Amino acid sequence: MRKYCLECDWQVSTADGYTEKEVSEAAIDHFVETGHTVDSLRLPPPVLRQN
Ligand SMILES: [Zn+2]
Repeated sequence: MRKYCLECDWQVSTADGYTEKEVSEAAIDHFVETGHTVDSLRLPPPVLRQN
C-alpha cells in the first residue's frame, strides 16, 4: 500500500519497509499537520480485465 499527497511531494509506502499501520498513521499525521489531502494506492496495482 502506498499513500501520497495530492498537494505536495509527500508519500510513504509499505515498499519502503513500513507496515500498513505505520503508513496509515503517517498519512493521518500529514493531514493533521498540513491539511493536505492524502490519497492511497494499493500495491501491486489491480489488474483490470475486459470481458
Ligand atoms: Zn502534503
